[in-house]
Amino acid sequence: MAEFVDFKKDGVWEHFLREKGGNSAKCKLCSTILKATGGSTKGLHEHLKRIHSINVLKRQATDDAEPSTSIKVLQLQFYVTAVAFTSAFPEFPGMTFSHSRE
Ligand SMILES: [Zn+2]
Repeated sequence: MAEFVDFKKDGVWEHFLREKGGNSAKCKLCSTILKATGGSTKGLHEHLKRIHSINVLKRQATDDAEPSTSIKVLQLQFYVTAVAFTSAFPEFPGMTFSHSRE
């Protein structure tokens, strides 16, 4: 059973508890469990707006701190994959097109 605790006292987290050691958020108003992967509050904003008609203003400094880090990690992963592929390509069997097969 997941444990939910107060995460932040401002913004969207005023209305949600965050799962301890996890990526889920629990609505304080209706106890619905929502995903907040990587600290993203997009789904939480949507829930408050749709279900409770609450519109919480996004705070650039706090809410956007984590997503920008994820983008950097994604770019690094793409770079590593590209380098690995490029170095593996010349030795890939069956990939030589200059000679016709007998
Ligand atoms: Zn709710």
